Amino acid sequence: MRVLLVEDDRMIGAAVQQALSDAAYAVDWTTDGEQALAAALAQAYDLVLLDLGLPRRDGIDVLRQLRARDARVPILIVTARDEVEDRIAGLDLGADDYVLKPFDVQELLARMRAVVRRQGGSASPLLTNGAITLDPVTRDVSFEGRSAALSGREFTLLQALLVRPGAILSRQELEERIYGWNEEVESNTVEVLIHGIRRKLGPAVIRNVRGVGWRVDRAA
Ligand code: CA
Repeated sequence: MRVLLVEDDRMIGAAVQQALSDAAYAVDWTTDGEQALAAALAQAYDLVLLDLGLPRRDGIDVLRQLRARDARVPILIVTARDEVEDRIAGLDLGADDYVLKPFDVQELLARMRAVVRRQGGSASPLLTNGAITLDPVTRDVSFEGRSAALSGREFTLLQALLVRPGAILSRQELEERIYGWNEEVESNTVEVLIHGIRRKLGPAVIRNVRGVGWRVDRAA
């Protein structure tokens, strides 16, 4: 999952970036509204975390511009308790939910999962395809009834494929789900992660489509 974090408060931004990285999200952090809008239009994110009071372009305007251009990315606004009118405006302009500052990081992560889940059209927190079940809350994975402990990045990669079973993701698309802006991409990471997942779950769990990418077969 790749998240655009828009927050001009350095302390809050750094804390949220750390918490999201610990939860194996790829995070791009920007501190101004202008850059946020440009990034959200240029890159496919799974979620935008949007502060409202921002330099150069306020969060409400970022939201308005994104929805006006039909960007469907889930947007979670992050506001102070006294910004009631902005919060209402944000929801009316197409934000998916909001979190009040100061917030508990665990609550933020739970709301993010809920928003992403609704976007995927599912009320269930579990991601299931055939014999594979993946739990984004506990990060438990099971395949054919056996559970396996995947690393954070292995989990993130498998999750990216499982969100759309049957769809082929290229190396670049997978790397974009795993790495944020300031993280160095190692050249064979995708192969290493897939090797790890196959070793733990079985070789058939991820298919290689030669020269194109990888997919999880859609279960019948
Ligand atoms: Ca702010």
